[in-house]
Amino acid sequence: DVRVRFAPSPTGFFHIGSARTALFNWLYARHCNGIFVLRIEDTDHERNTPEALRVLLEGMRWLGLDWDEGPEVGGDKGPYFQSQRSEIYKAAVQKLLDNGRAYEKDGAVFFRLEGERYREHDQYLGEEVEKVRAEPMIFEDAIRGRIERVVDRDFPIVRANGDPVFHLVNVVDDIEMGITHVIRGEDHLANTARHLELFYALGAKPPVFAHLPLILKDPAVGKGKMSKRDQGALIEEYQNRHFLAEAVRNFLCLLGWNPKDDREIMPIGEIIENFDFPGIQKGAARFDEAKLRHMNGHYLRELPVESYAWLARPILAGAGIIEEDADEDFLQKVLELCRPKLDLLENLGDYCGFFFTRDYPMDEKARAKVGKKADPSVLATELLAEVRAEGSKGSAGFELAIERAAEKNDRKSGAYRPLTRFAVTGSLSGPDLGAIIDLLGLEEVAARLEKLAA
Ligand code: GLU
Repeated sequence: DVRVRFAPSPTGFFHIGSARTALFNWLYARHCNGIFVLRIEDTDHERNTPEALRVLLEGMRWLGLDWDEGPEVGGDKGPYFQSQRSEIYKAAVQKLLDNGRAYEKDGAVFFRLEGERYREHDQYLGEEVEKVRAEPMIFEDAIRGRIERVVDRDFPIVRANGDPVFHLVNVVDDIEMGITHVIRGEDHLANTARHLELFYALGAKPPVFAHLPLILKDPAVGKGKMSKRDQGALIEEYQNRHFLAEAVRNFLCLLGWNPKDDREIMPIGEIIENFDFPGIQKGAARFDEAKLRHMNGHYLRELPVESYAWLARPILAGAGIIEEDADEDFLQKVLELCRPKLDLLENLGDYCGFFFTRDYPMDEKARAKVGKKADPSVLATELLAEVRAEGSKGSAGFELAIERAAEKNDRKSGAYRPLTRFAVTGSLSGPDLGAIIDLLGLEEVAARLEKLAA
């Protein structure tokens, strides 16, 4: 049975690379009907605070990456915190000492390579000496194929202060927890040969290794590996910016994997069904903010309007754009109207704020553009008289009003459209003008024209 694990060292941030590793492990587990273990590699006591753990667990839950064994859910291979497993590591070190695959030196414990020559200049010393070796360890990576790496010398597994080293605890836990597939970032490829030495020396069958490609910066931002400081590098950022978790997850799936056709937006069930190692690329993946926004927009448009309003209400209320108890029906109508073009909820206020307040920003560039043909306040005054005459009729009344204003003032009726859009919304872009007028009502349009006319 397939057992995979995500083994983060909590740092207080949930980096996109870690999230992608967690996700690919989860996808593989779900694809194989296997078990997804969450193991906390918290041997670095200073960085591992409860807050760091919280960020991680919340990020995973937000992305919908539920684990079958681990913190808060338990399991029979626990404890799932390395800080609680020292006895297990001690026993493993003792086993290696007993079977001659480890030795103590200067207070530390070293792993002993076997069947190799001693270093020339050391070979006459009567004590334990480092071994060196030249031929590579060969293994088959499920993504990258045949890999050859030389472990060229004995290496420490316990530090002089008694702390076990990462390589040891990582391998011991993978053995103890029955891990069948190790799916992790390419940065660990350099460790794998050492890990294999440890698996063999501990008499265990090594798991399948699958090393995931690097994630590079968005080309629009720069070159090289994506760093913690790059926009979009932290999962917390997506949570704070009101991205939809489904969209972020779908986007992360494509950072190194694809279904071998050109589909990008796929329901998670379909991704799980299709997910496997041959679909994972060897070459680096590229972060692409534009693609993520596009996907987020897609998932936003798929939401039932009730859910959309449920998400939007606190965002708009938090920004002071609507009251907490703003009318639900009006809110839903506004959101429906704004939805086709909106890709991020965080822009909702800029996009539809004018529906809820007369105190919206007036884009000066838009004012200048309208003013090219005629003075906006003159146009507004001309139109205002006719709009008032239409009383409370909606966009149909508005159409009549601009025809009449055009006739009386000897202009093309089209001149009043950008003017009205500017007066009503503060800009020259946005949803259909007739629909805006129908929602706001002609009296409100008159009030806003009046502001411009004055
Ligand atoms: N704690 C290690 C890390 O965060 C785990 C490496 C592994 O998955 O084996 O990179």
